[in-house]
Amino acid sequence: MAHAKTQELIRYAERRVSENDRLLLNQHFEACAFCAREVRKFEEVLDALKGADLQRARSPVKLCCDAQTLTRTFGFQQTRRSSWDS
Ligand SMILES: [Zn+2]
Repeated sequence: MAHAKTQELIRYAERRVSENDRLLLNQHFEACAFCAREVRKFEEVLDALKGADLQRARSPVKLCCDAQTLTRTFGFQQTRRSSWDS
């Protein structure tokens, strides 16, 4: 059997291959260390991306707080500056 295509490895890592394809790929991974290593790399990347998604989901909250803090700080400074001017 030829090496699995990159696209097939990605689909396998994403658990999006059919049962039949999964069995064929499993057989290939047992015989081919190269593809077995490749698919593990894709699985690691996908895990890392899931982690990044969680981090991204938290950042809007942080950004929102930062924007409020900035607005408050800016508004406070403006008020102080204008009170100094008058
Ligand atoms: Zn292979």
